[in-house]
Amino acid sequence: MCSTALRGLSSVASGLVRRQSAWPLHLHVRNAITLRRDFCARANAAHALDDASSEKLGSASPWATDGWGDSVEIIEQTMPDAHRALLSNASVAIPTSSAEAGELPAVSDILGAYEAQLQRRTARHLGYPYNLDYQNRELDRFMRYSINNLGDPFVPSNYGVHSRQFEVAVVDFFARLWRADPNDYWGYVTTCGTEGNLYGMLLARETLPDGIVYTSSETHYSVFKAAHYYRQEVEVIPTLFNGQIDYDALATALRRNRGKPAILNVNIGTTVKGAVDDLDRILRTLSMTGYEREDYYVHCDGALFAMMMPFVEYAPELSFQRPIDSITVSGHKMLGCPMPCGIALTRRSHVRKIERRIDYLNSVDTTIMGSRNGHAALHMWHSLRTKGLEGIKAEVASCLKTAVYLRDSLSAEGITCQLNDLSSTVILERPADERFVKRWQLACEEDIAHVVVMPNVTTKKVDIFVAELVAMTKQHGRTAPRRENSPLTLLSSKAWGAHRAGHA
Ligand SMILES: *Cc1c(COP(=O)(O)O)cnc(C)c1O
Repeated sequence: MCSTALRGLSSVASGLVRRQSAWPLHLHVRNAITLRRDFCARANAAHALDDASSEKLGSASPWATDGWGDSVEIIEQTMPDAHRALLSNASVAIPTSSAEAGELPAVSDILGAYEAQLQRRTARHLGYPYNLDYQNRELDRFMRYSINNLGDPFVPSNYGVHSRQFEVAVVDFFARLWRADPNDYWGYVTTCGTEGNLYGMLLARETLPDGIVYTSSETHYSVFKAAHYYRQEVEVIPTLFNGQIDYDALATALRRNRGKPAILNVNIGTTVKGAVDDLDRILRTLSMTGYEREDYYVHCDGALFAMMMPFVEYAPELSFQRPIDSITVSGHKMLGCPMPCGIALTRRSHVRKIERRIDYLNSVDTTIMGSRNGHAALHMWHSLRTKGLEGIKAEVASCLKTAVYLRDSLSAEGITCQLNDLSSTVILERPADERFVKRWQLACEEDIAHVVVMPNVTTKKVDIFVAELVAMTKQHGRTAPRRENSPLTLLSSKAWGAHRAGHA
C-alpha cells in the first residue's frame, strides 16, 4: 500500500483535509467531479419527484437532501385503508392451492402498496442510526446476479460470480482510515456490526482463552451475546452519567483479577447515548494496573461512530497505531447501504489462529459466515467511492450540526435532552404518547428516548418533529422519571455541563 495515501488518510483523521497533499491528485479531482455530478443528478431527481410541492428542502451537506424522504407531503401521509388491506397477513400469504391463489390480490398491487409504505416510513424515521439517504440507482442492474464472496476476501475461490476486488478495496480503505500497518491487517465485509463483534470476540478468545471480558453496562447486546456463545467470563463495569465506562471501576476490577488476561470491549459510541469510551484512558488504565501487551486484547465496537470519528475535527484518534486488536463498524449505519452489512478489521496474526484451508472452496475459511453477500461489498464500495473523503466529511459535519440544532430546539421548548460530545445522538425524555413514539420510530429505554441524526435528517424534519412533540406534550403531558437514578433522572444531571431547561 502506498504510504502517501496512508498519510492522506491520517490528515483527514486529524480533521484537516489538505487537497494538495496525500491522495494522488487525480483522485481528488475525480472525487470532486463525481461529487458535483451526483449533486446535480440528485437535485434534478428531487425536483422531478417533488412536483406536488414547491418547497425545496436541504441542509448544509449536499448529501443530506433526498427526493422523497423529506417532503412534508410524504411525512404527513397516513396509510390509506386500501393499502392496509393489501399488506395484511391474509393478503400476502403464499397460497398452497389454485383456489386459494384466486382469492388473493395481484402481486403488483401488493408491491405498489408496500413501496408507498416504505416511502412513508423512511420519511418518518428518527430513532435508529441508519443513513437512509444514498444514491445507488446505478447498482440496480446487479441485483440480477448471485454475487457471493464465499471464503476469504483475499483468496479467490472457484466460484467466479463475486465482488472480491470491491470488498478488498473497502477493507483497504478502512485499514488506511484506522492507520493499520500495511503488512499486518486483515478484514472482511460482514453481515452487520453484530457479526463484527462476534468476530472480534472470537479472535480475543482464541488469543486469550481464559481472558475475562470487561465491558460497560451500556454495551450493545451483541457483545454479551458473543461472550455467552463463547462461554467467556464477563465483568460488567458500571457507567458514568453520560454513558461512558466508569474508568475507576474498571481499574478496580482489573486489579482484582490481575492473575487472568483481560479482553476489553471499548465502545466507540454506545447504542443509546452515543457515548464514546476514552480509548487512551482505558489503555493507560491497563498499563497502570500492571497488564503487559500480551496480557490483553482490545476490541473496539464502533458500529456507528468508527465511521464518523475519523472525520470529526479534534476528535480522539481511533487507530491501529495504538495497542488495539480489532475494530468493527456497520455499513448500513453512517455509510448508508440498503442492506445490513459491516466491516471487521484486525491484525493478520490473529486471523492465522482460526484459518482453515477448504478444498471445496479452493479458498481459506477465515470468516464466520460461509456464503457472503457480494452486493453488500459492492454497495459499500460505491458509497465510499462516490462520496469520497470530502463527501463523507461533509455528511458527518452536517449530522453533528443538525444534532446541536435539534438539542437546542428541544431545550428551548423546555424538553429535557442531552447530546454527548462527538455524538449525533440526541437523548430526550420519553414522549408520553406511545403512538408518537411509533410514528417517529424512536428507540426508547425505560424513561428516555433518542433521535440519531443521520444525513437524511434535515433541519426541516427536525422542525416538524419538535412542533409535533410540543403539541403532543400539551395533550398528553410528560413522562416523569420512573425511579431514582433512572436514565431520565441522570439526563437532568448538572454533571452534563451547561444546565438546560427541562425537568428540574
Ligand atoms: C448497532 C450497533 C451494533 C450492532 O450492529 P448491527 O449492524 O445492528 O448488527 C453494535 N454495537 C453498537 C454500539 C451499535 O450501535
